[in-house]
Formats: sequence, structure tokens, C-alpha cells
Amino acid sequence: MYCPNCGKQSPDEATVCTECGLKFGPVSTEPVYDPAINAYRQPVYIPATVPGKGVSIASLVLGIISVVFFLTAYIAAAIAVVGLVLGIYGKSKSKKLGLPNGSATAGIACSSVCLGIELTILLVAVIAGAFYF
Ligand SMILES: [Zn+2]
Repeated sequence: MYCPNCGKQSPDEATVCTECGLKFGPVSTEPVYDPAINAYRQPVYIPATVPGKGVSIASLVLGIISVVFFLTAYIAAAIAVVGLVLGIYGKSKSKKLGLPNGSATAGIACSSVCLGIELTILLVAVIAGAFYF
């Protein structure tokens, strides 16, 4: 059986890839894209866990916090930047295996919304400042 992450062959009874350490779940019944050979393979192991899931959930949590606490301006913007970076990182890891990663997408969205709010506030403040002084 083949690893969907690195494309190396592992014994049929393997639970983790001997090459890259990916945890294996069930075996696919449909072709799975294998980036190592740039083609579809059947059957391959389906990863037991979505790689990058942890950072993606962290991204989502930070994204929500940054939106809820947008009044803290710079603090919220800093949290949103971290959330955005983690979200992009998490998404790239799961995207490599063609796996859906809703929390990464949601994390990127929430962080972007917060950064949009902060930039708008900053812009309004700059324009208002230009008129007052
Ligand atoms: Zn592997």
C-alpha cells in the first residue's frame, strides 16, 4: 500500500508511514491523488488525521478572538496576523494531500475580517486626524 503523503510503499498492515510518519486510517475505495507521482493511485491509505488540523483549529480560535476583541486594535490585529499565518500554514499542509480543512478556511476568513476592520479603523482615524489637525 502507498502513503498518500510521500508516495513510498508501506506494508499492508502498517499503521504509520515508515518514510514520513503519517498516521494511516482506512484504505481508500476511490482513487486518491498522490503528489509524489503527480497522478491518482488506488488503493492508498487515507490519513487518520488531517495534517495541519491542530494549527488550523488554533487559527480559527485566534480568528474568532481577534474579531470579538476588535476594539483592542493593535492587540486584535496582532492576534489576527498570527491566526492568518497559522491558517495558511494549516491549509497548505492539508491541501498537499487534497484533504478538506474547514477550520483553516474559517480561521483565514475570521482573521482577514478582523484585519479588514482594523485597517478601516486606522484609515478612518488617519482621515479624521487629517481633518482635525
Ligand atoms: Zn509517507
